[in-house]
Amino acid sequence: MGARFQPKRLMTTLILVALSVAVARTAPKNPTADDMDNSIKPGDDFYRYANGGWLKANTIPGGQSTYDTRAMLAEKTRQQVRELIESAASAHAAKGSVVQKVGDYYTGFLDQGGIEAKGLSPLADEMVRIAAITDKTSLSAYLGTTLNGEVEGLTANADHVFGIWINQGFEDSDHNLPHIWQGGLGMPDRDDYLDSSPKMAGLRNQYQAHIEAALRLTGAAEPENKAARILSLEIRIAQAFAPDSDAADVFKQNNPWKRADFDTKAPGLDWDAYFQSAGLAEQRDFIVWQPSAVIGVSALVRGESIDVWKDYLRFHLLEHYASVLPKAVAAEHFAFYGTILSAAQQMPDRSQEALASTNGALGEAVGQLYTQRYFPAEAKVRAKAMVNDLITAYRGRISRLTWMSPRTKQKALAKLSALQVMVGYPDVWIDYSSLDVARGDAFGNMRRAEAFNRLRNLAKLKQPVDPIEWPINPQVPGAVIMFSPNAEFFSAAILQSPYFDSEGDSASNYGSAGAAMAHEISHSFDELGNIYDAQGRLGNWWTAEDRARLGEAAEKLVEQFNRYCPFLDLCINGKQVLSENIADLAGLLVAHDAYVLSLKGNSDVVIGGLSGEQRFFLAFAKRWRKLQTETALRQQLKTDMHSPGEYRSDTVRNVDGWYESYKVAPGDKLYLKPKDRVRIW
Ligand SMILES: [Zn+2]
Repeated sequence: MGARFQPKRLMTTLILVALSVAVARTAPKNPTADDMDNSIKPGDDFYRYANGGWLKANTIPGGQSTYDTRAMLAEKTRQQVRELIESAASAHAAKGSVVQKVGDYYTGFLDQGGIEAKGLSPLADEMVRIAAITDKTSLSAYLGTTLNGEVEGLTANADHVFGIWINQGFEDSDHNLPHIWQGGLGMPDRDDYLDSSPKMAGLRNQYQAHIEAALRLTGAAEPENKAARILSLEIRIAQAFAPDSDAADVFKQNNPWKRADFDTKAPGLDWDAYFQSAGLAEQRDFIVWQPSAVIGVSALVRGESIDVWKDYLRFHLLEHYASVLPKAVAAEHFAFYGTILSAAQQMPDRSQEALASTNGALGEAVGQLYTQRYFPAEAKVRAKAMVNDLITAYRGRISRLTWMSPRTKQKALAKLSALQVMVGYPDVWIDYSSLDVARGDAFGNMRRAEAFNRLRNLAKLKQPVDPIEWPINPQVPGAVIMFSPNAEFFSAAILQSPYFDSEGDSASNYGSAGAAMAHEISHSFDELGNIYDAQGRLGNWWTAEDRARLGEAAEKLVEQFNRYCPFLDLCINGKQVLSENIADLAGLLVAHDAYVLSLKGNSDVVIGGLSGEQRFFLAFAKRWRKLQTETALRQQLKTDMHSPGEYRSDTVRNVDGWYESYKVAPGDKLYLKPKDRVRIW
C-alpha cells in the first residue's frame, strides 16, 4: 500500500528470497532441448552443455543489465496477475465477492478522472484532525493513529513515526507481541540526513524543495519556511535512529519493554493518549527494536513546536496517499522519489501502479484468484510430497554429519522436526468480508484496506501464535524463511515452470525447485539459522567447536571457488560467497537424496534419451542460466554473496551421482578426484 521504498535492509528474523526484481520485456522462451548444446561434453562444461542454445538465442532486454530464469518467471507472473485482475475488473461480479473487490479496487485506482475531480477533498477529515491538535496530548493521540503495520516487517524503516509488527517474542514463542521499530523519515536512510558529504547535502536540498512543492499544492502559507522546519525536524528524528549495523542486529533489537517503561525511559510523548488511539490501551508487553528512536522521538514531541509537528503531519499525509490523489501530487512525489532517488526516467505506467496497489491491499484475494487458475490443489499435493522427501533426506544427512557435535545434532534434528514448510498458498485465506471496496473510490478503498489490515494485525495480540501464517502472497514469485517462528514458505508463483511443473517430469522438479527449496531449508541450520531454536526463540545452539569444525570442512569449498576466474584480473572471492555455496551444495545433495527416495526403489524412465539422474542434474544447471553485462558480472563478483550462475551450476562437481550419470572421467575439465569433492552436508 503506502510503502514507498523497496526494502533496503531486511529484518533479521526473516529473509525474503528471490523476490521478483528484474523487469524483462521479452517473452520467456520455453525450455526445450534447443536450449542445450550437445556439441559440448558435459564433463568439460556442464553449464554450456545445459544452456548453450539458450545463451545464444537470447539477449538482455533493453534497459536491463541481466536476464535469467528469475526474470523470466517474474515477467510470466506479472502477465498472469495482470490478466487475472483485468478480467476481474471487467467481470462486474456480485458485490462483496472476492472478484468484485479485486476488480473494483483496480478500476477505482485507474479512474484518474474521478480522482482529479475530487481534488484534495478526500484528505479533508484528516486535515481537520491535524488542525485540531493543540497540545502534547492531542499530538500524541494523533501520532497513535498513524502507528501501523502496513510495511509488515519487510521494510527497514516505517513511513510514519514508529512501525508495528505483530509476531511472537524473541524469547517467548507462546505469545504474540507488538514489535515497535523506528520510522518517520521521508528519505529512506538515516545517513541521508546525517552524512555531511556534499552529495548528501545536495540531496537534502532537493528533498527540502520537494517538501516545499508538496506543501504548495495544499495551499499552505509560507511553504518555504515550513519545508525548512520539517526537514530540520526529520534530521533530529534521524539523529535518534539506531545506526544501520545495530538496526540489523537481532540481539540489539530484543528489548522487552513493559508499558510503564515508555513513561520512565522515554518521557515526552503522552503514552496513555498514544497507545489509546493506537488500539493498544490494554497491551502490557512490547519489544522495542531501537530504543534510541523511541526515546528521541518522544523527547521531540515535548521539545519541538506543535506547529512544526502539524506541518510535518500534513506533508506526510499527502505523501502517504500521493498515488490516489490528483496527478499534480503524484507527479511531485515521483519527481523526488522516482527521478532523484531512483534515477527513473519516467513515471511507471498507471496500470502497473494499480496492479501493485491492488496486490498490496488485497494480496490474498488476488492470491485466491491466482491459485485457482495457476496452482491447483494437485500441484500443492505434488510439491508437498517433494517437501516430505526433502525433510526425510535432511534427517539422514544431519544424522550422518561428521563435523557437528552429537548435542548440536540433537538440537538440529529437533528443529527439523518442528520446521513447517508451506507450499503454494495458505490453507485458510484471509477473510475480506468486512472490507468494503467501492468502484469509484480509490482513496477510500486504500484507507479502508489499511484500516482492515491494521485491525486484523492488532487482533493477533489476543490470538495464539500461528506459525503458518503466510508472510508472502501466492502470486509473488519468491520464498520466505521465518526463523521466528520456525517456518518456510514457497509461493505458488515460484513453483511453476521453469522451476516446477506439477504435471511434468519429477526428476527435473527435484533438480530445480527441489534443490532451491533444500538450499533455503539449509539456512535454518547454518550460520544464519543457528541463533534460533526449534520454536523460533533466540539462542545459539552451535558450540564454538561446531563452528571451528565447519570452518575446516568449508576450506576446500573456498579454494574450489577461488580458482574460478571469469576475468583475467578478477576471480571469485571464495570466502565472500561461502555461506551461499554451502547452501547450494547442501541443496543439491539433499535434493538428490530426495529424488532417489521418491523413486521408492524403482528405476526412472528415459525421456528424450536422458535418464532420470541425467535430467535431475540438467534441471539444476538450467536453473542457473543467466545473461549479464560485463559491468554487472564484475559488480556481482565484488559484492554479491552468491556466485555467478555458471559456477553455482558447477556445484555438481562435488556430487558422485553426477559423475556416474554423465560418465565424467579423469581428463574432463570439470573432473575432481573423489578426495577433492567437497562434502559438508
Ligand atoms: Zn541462500
